[in-house]
Formats: sequence, structure tokens, C-alpha cells
Amino acid sequence: MTTAALIVAAGRGTRAGGAVPKQYALFGGTSVLARTLGVFLDHPAVDQVLVVIGPDDWKLYDTAGIASHAKLLTPVAGGDTRQSSVLDGLRALRRFAPSRVLIHDAVRPFVTDRLVADVLAALDEAPGAIAAVPVADTLKRAGPDNIIAETAGRAGFWRAQTPQGFRFADILAAHEAAAAGGRIDLTDDAAVAEWAGLIVKIVPGSEHNRKLTTAEDIAFASQAIAAAREFRTGQGFDVHRFTAGDHVWLCGVRIPHSHKLEGHSDADVALHALTDALLGAIGEPDIGTLFLNTDLRWKDAPSHVFLAEAARRVTARAGAIVNVDVTILAEAPKVSPHREAMCARIAEILAIERDRVAIKATTTEGLGFTGRREGIAAMATATVVLR
Ligand code: MG
Repeated sequence: MTTAALIVAAGRGTRAGGAVPKQYALFGGTSVLARTLGVFLDHPAVDQVLVVIGPDDWKLYDTAGIASHAKLLTPVAGGDTRQSSVLDGLRALRRFAPSRVLIHDAVRPFVTDRLVADVLAALDEAPGAIAAVPVADTLKRAGPDNIIAETAGRAGFWRAQTPQGFRFADILAAHEAAAAGGRIDLTDDAAVAEWAGLIVKIVPGSEHNRKLTTAEDIAFASQAIAAAREFRTGQGFDVHRFTAGDHVWLCGVRIPHSHKLEGHSDADVALHALTDALLGAIGEPDIGTLFLNTDLRWKDAPSHVFLAEAARRVTARAGAIVNVDVTILAEAPKVSPHREAMCARIAEILAIERDRVAIKATTTEGLGFTGRREGIAAMATATVVLR
């Protein structure tokens, strides 16, 4: 049994008052359409995803940040009404002969995996199933003068949402018949199915699955996305001892010194602490686990390799580095003459702005192993944001 998803993105979205139709509006750094598509492309029960776009929207579609995906078909252009656009999409899906189709508004980006699964499950019992929420507010009918003419009963009333799922052959036949019969005023696919005499079941939807219709809706959605961001903090600590040599590496900068630091790699104690802080923030194994000190690949390796790998792992989790903060504990060498170069180097390795990097240094007042100039210790914290 195969399932196709038809995403209806042909609307003009004039009520949002934006420069582009609202399915192409950006929120949380992503277009509304790209976010909606992601839910269906990632859903294990969905085999193909087809978008119906406005005939003049090819350029908008191409610049909407939609990555290619094995399930994603080339979009088709829709018609003047939602109803005709859906029919165009259904006809384009015919050659894949899906057994079921989910029809969904592009401007409902908060649809969940669970709701998709619930609608599909209901199709086992009925030829049609839609997400809907019960009407909670009292319903008033008013004339053009905004004077209430009537208070209507709300019992048994639901607000229809999408996804709306159907057995494919049934809904295609219903749409064809409605178009042929001149019924072009039906505002959702359940109405087309009802007109054709199909039984359509309601599945409880969610208020979160709202349709982004106005500029206010887009602003609300942006806030919801921002609130869903997760901030993580990690810490790292490292020590390396001095041995015979003439320079140390600290924060990716070579500094002439009376000794060098002993280690399997270049022994950049500060970059090691910082690497562990980043790995810690995203719950990954520490530097010693990822880069074994028995592995010849890391013999005398420059430590920016380790730090860059930690940054790559943050990016791979759709994360971004907010800031990093390093403290070096040493009697010598002096850090201050090199601080600016160190900050710039870390910013370069992590590909972040310079002002997201701080480096501090302190002696330990002659106390302990650092005070006795036996080695250097470094501590670091890192904050990342996951989307
Ligand atoms: Mg180390």
C-alpha cells in the first residue's frame, strides 16, 4: 500500500499582506512551505510528496530553501481555485497509482507526525478521514453592520483542518465528478467527498495545527519557533605537562616558550578543553574517546582538526554555536600579547563571529602544578542552540 501526500501551495495569500504568498514567508529562518514539506518527507508512511504551486511561483519555489529528496516530485502548477489545484495535483499523482493520498495545506507547518499517522489509521475504517477541532467559542451570525442576528448552537460543530486523507481512487473520482458537474465552490476536499457520497471520518486535530492566514499568524509562528529552540551548555577541562622544547600551541597559535607541552597531538591544551566543551553541549563522546591517543592519525596532529570536528557535529544536529569562553591557567607564557590572534583563530576554526569568542588567562599565584610551572591547564564552556 503506497501513500502520496499532496501539498496545496497555490494560494495567493493576500490576507497576510506580505510581499510573497504566505507559504513562502520566512519564519525561524525557514520558509513555511519547506517546514511543512519536511514533516511529510520525513514521515515513514509517506512514499511520494507532490506540491501544487501557483503558475507564476516557480521562482519562489526554487528559492524557498527546499532540499531535493528522493520522495519529492517535481511540483505541478495549479488552477484558479483550491479545488481545481487539488484536481491538478491528483491527476499528476495518477501515474504513481497510490492507494491513499493525504491532502494538506502548505500553510499549516505545525502538522505533526502523529496527526498524519492518525488520519492514515482512520482510512482503514472509512474512505475519507480529516483532522478537525471541535468549536469551543459561541457562534454568532451577524449582518454587514456587525449586529448579531442569531446565536447558533455549536454542539457537533468542528473546524476542518488538514491533512485530509482519502483512498486515492475515490477522491480522484469525486473531484473529477465535481468539476464535470460544475461544483467548483467546495472549499475543502472533505466537502468534495461528501458531495460524492463518501463517508468521511473526523480525527481530533490540534489548535497548534493552525493555518497561517494573516501577518499576525506568521508573527505568532515565528515566536513559537523561537520558543522551541533549545540552548545547551558544555564544559571542558584539560592539562598538559611541560617537556623540553621551544614553543607551545595555545588556542591554535604558536607561541615561543622555554618548554613545549607534552602530548600525542600538538598538545594545544586550550583547544582540547574547548573541543570537550562543544562535544559536551551536544552530549557526544569526549575528545579522548573520539580521537584515541594510540591512533597514529592523530600523532602530532594540529588540534584545530579536533575542534573543527566538534563544530561539524553541532552543525549536523541543526545546531549553531552561540558563544565559547576559554580560561588558561598558567604562570607563563603570557597570553595577553596573543589573545587577539587566539580569538581570531578560534572564530576562524568554528566559522563564527569574533565576538562569540572569549579567552582569559590567569596564574594560580604560584600554587599547585601550574604555579610550579610544571604544565598548563585550560577550562572552557560552550553554548549551542539546537533548532
Ligand atoms: Mg589534551
